Parts: sequence; structure tokens; C-alpha cells
Amino acid sequence: MNFHILTLFPEMFDGVLHSSMLGRAEEKGILKFNLVNIRDFSGNKHNRVDDAPYGGGRGMVMQAPPVYDAYESVASALSSKPHVIHMSPKGSVLTQQKAIELSKKEDIVILCGHYEGIDQRVIDEIVDEEISIGDYVLTGGEIPAMTLIDCVSRMIDGVLSNEDSFTDESHYDGLLEYPHYTRPPEFHGRVVPEVLLSGDHARIAAWRRRESILITKEKRPDMYERNADIYESELNPPPKRRRKR
Ligand code: SAM
Repeated sequence: MNFHILTLFPEMFDGVLHSSMLGRAEEKGILKFNLVNIRDFSGNKHNRVDDAPYGGGRGMVMQAPPVYDAYESVASALSSKPHVIHMSPKGSVLTQQKAIELSKKEDIVILCGHYEGIDQRVIDEIVDEEISIGDYVLTGGEIPAMTLIDCVSRMIDGVLSNEDSFTDESHYDGLLEYPHYTRPPEFHGRVVPEVLLSGDHARIAAWRRRESILITKEKRPDMYERNADIYESELNPPPKRRRKR
């Protein structure tokens, strides 16, 4: 998977993209990161890429031509049109399902805004979808882009090590994950649930499933409600009928 990132601040990505799991996936050739500095396409000697908004008002707006030229420098080198995402607080909020869907793409272009945002005409021309990382506003699209890249990359084969699986993690199947414990068995008087020390894999799996359902019910009733009938019957199974002799 190739991520092409159009940004005014490519240096912001250095630490995040080239360390830990993303860095290892890049070394293995599973991920490629192509950072494109929109300022390189300013077309003027002052390297300016923003201007005052038509109609007045505060702040500056990123101009359409340098954004378009930065995009074209990527798209013209590819055999088919890449999927273009604009990080924006006006977009659909990122979900695990969206990350799974995007992990199937070959080339993704991520457009990061700054200041008041980007001239709408270039958004209308090149962008396939707008994604937000939550209902709040950040100074730029770089941190949202890093969030998206991290979340999508974990869904790609070979990025997580064999022991790490995302299929029982929070949000993958509509539930939050069960709690984790590790050595020591007692900490400040709090002991590890007995079942986890039992070595009985079936009981452990059943306990984890129940904890997932209970935690989701408590912390995210909105998620719980989507499949409440199934969860309620799992939490309160009908009593087993005794066989007649
Ligand atoms: N004036 C814009 C508005 O009210 O919708 C906010 C602009 S914001 C200060 C600058 C840039 O940060 C945006 O163009 C976008 O790329 C990025 N951004 C800010 N919040 C974001 C969020 N929640 N999700 C994704 N991108 C965001």
C-alpha cells in the first residue's frame, strides 16, 4: 500500500511513520510513504500557498493551484487514479470499518489542510471522500492523517506481528475488548481473575466474551444497542431443561 501525503509540514511525519510497527512495515516493503510538500508547487518566489478569503473574514485559505499541482505530481506517475482523502472536521468520522475498507486500496492520497482550510474548488475536483478523526478542530490535517495511516496500516497483512491480532480488539466486531492482566498475580491487593490462571481455554474464552459484552454495555451503550438482543441472550441464557427420566 502506498500512502501519498500532500502537506505543508512533511517534517511532522518523520517520527511517526518511520518508527515502531509502521517503520518495520516500511522496511519490509509492505508500506510506502511518499511525502509531498505542497509549498514546492507554490509557483512564486516567496513560496506562498495561501491567500485571504474571498468575501472577507478571518484567517487564510490554501490556494487551489499548488494543491492541484502537488496532487498531479503524484497522480500522473500512477497507472490508475488514486483514492483521494481530504482530512477535514466536516468529513465522516473515522471508524474501524472504514479503516478495513481503505486497507484494500493500492494508492491513497491524503490531503492535509491548514489555516482556515483549502479552496473548495480543488476539493471538488480531486477529493473522493472527506474523513474527520472526531468532532473537534485541530490546527492542521497532519495529526489526523497520521491517525488514519496508523489505523489503516494495522489492517494490512504483515504489518502486525503474528502474535498481535486485531480481530478481537475493540471495535473490530462491534464490541469493546475485555481487560488484560499480566504478572505479578497480585498488585496492591488486587488479584488477577482466577479463571485467567486456570489454563482452561474454553472457560477463558467464555469469560473474555462476557467481559467484552459487559464493558460495552457499561461504557458504550450506543454500540451495545446495535446487537442488544444477541448480547442479552448471551448474558442471560435460558436455563437448561432437565431431561425426563
Ligand atoms: N475552518 C475549518 C472548519 O471550521 O471546518 C477548520 C480548519 S482547521 C483549523 C485546519 C485543517 O485541519 C483542516 O483543513 C483539516 O485538514 C484539519 N483538521 C482539523 N480538525 C480536523 C479533524 N477533526 N479531522 C480531520 N482533519 C481536521
